Amino acid sequence: MLIRYSADSKGKPVQKAVIYTKTEHNISLKSIDPDALYVISRLRENCFDAYIVGGAVRDLIIGRTPKDFDIVTDATPSRIKKIFRNSRIIGKRFRLVHIFFGQKIFEVSTFRSTVDGSVGNAFGTMDEDVMRRDFSLNALYYDPIKEHVIDYVGGVKDIRKGIVRPVIPLNRIFIEDPVRMLRAVKYGATTGCKIPHSLKKKIRSSAPLLAPVSPSRLTEELLKIINSGHSYDIVSGTLDTNLFEYLQPSATNMMIEDRKFEKAYLHSLKELDAAAAANPGMRLGDRLFYILRDFVTNLTDWSREEKITSIAAELYKRTWASCRNFILPMNPQRTELDYAVRKILLSLGVQLKQRKPRKVQPKN
Ligand code: ATP
Ligand code: MG
Repeated sequence: MLIRYSADSKGKPVQKAVIYTKTEHNISLKSIDPDALYVISRLRENCFDAYIVGGAVRDLIIGRTPKDFDIVTDATPSRIKKIFRNSRIIGKRFRLVHIFFGQKIFEVSTFRSTVDGSVGNAFGTMDEDVMRRDFSLNALYYDPIKEHVIDYVGGVKDIRKGIVRPVIPLNRIFIEDPVRMLRAVKYGATTGCKIPHSLKKKIRSSAPLLAPVSPSRLTEELLKIINSGHSYDIVSGTLDTNLFEYLQPSATNMMIEDRKFEKAYLHSLKELDAAAAANPGMRLGDRLFYILRDFVTNLTDWSREEKITSIAAELYKRTWASCRNFILPMNPQRTELDYAVRKILLSLGVQLKQRKPRKVQPKN
């Protein structure tokens, strides 16, 4: 193990980070996407610093295959753009760069500073960048050239101990960004790391901070949950910490009022996770089927509802509108909601007319 030092105000050396070498972290270079290695090598050739950061390093240490590789560098977005022709700067406020390799995208961000707490956009140093990452398990940097893991915050030990520990002080972390509460619960459910009691308590008492978060950001988080393959565990965790009522208020109210609905809803999430494991590329409409099915089943007495085609169109419209309200603030694409509602009604025995395929106008 190597130690990185910096000097304090009196010039005395103080430990800054621990560096885990190849035999200590056990990450094999073979598990790194060659295109990510290429991006890092090109940045280094251009005299910039560059590392793999965040979720990918966490997953590699846990022994899982990362779903993507985020890269961080001291190059500014415009410099990165100049180095990679296949790239685009995205974001108006928080500018970062997407580098494209066919269908694959690498997100390359520039070290951010702590001048405005943990959410500002000013560029900074690696020492500052690490202090604004949410949890220690997400705050590790991997240098694939030297094959080093650089750990400023005890993240490797926390992963090995199995705990989710905040890097940002508890009195600021959720005030500065309430979505971090959802992230904590997500990592608690997906990494096998536990949320300590004190953190859970803080999340419960800070839950109302989610109220003013925009519907688009909540939708983004909900989609990640639906797509995670761990929706049952994550939703159970958000229910336990009072967060789910901000993600899905109608479903939460129904669960509070009706234990049977709660059981059915959670069971459907288990089915969703099993279906997603068998078919990871499943479309959103198929996933929404599991989220909406128990609500639609509860809407009416399906044994008596006339399931004949003449009223089915009206029934479809009513059900669609109810479903749209039920999953607010999430606002999925219309085609996907249409698809899910149709699939649910068909599963309940409603005879819906087949949709006419759209006529394609011949080009002259
Ligand atoms: P996932 O496997 O869900 O993608 P991830 O850790 O890679 O997990 P991302 O949302 O891709 O999560 O973010 C990449 C990294 O950026 C995180 O690991 C973390 O270090 C940092 N990060 C992302 N969102 C936040 C946030 N809201 N607050 C602080 N740090 C964040
Ligand atoms: Mg990621």
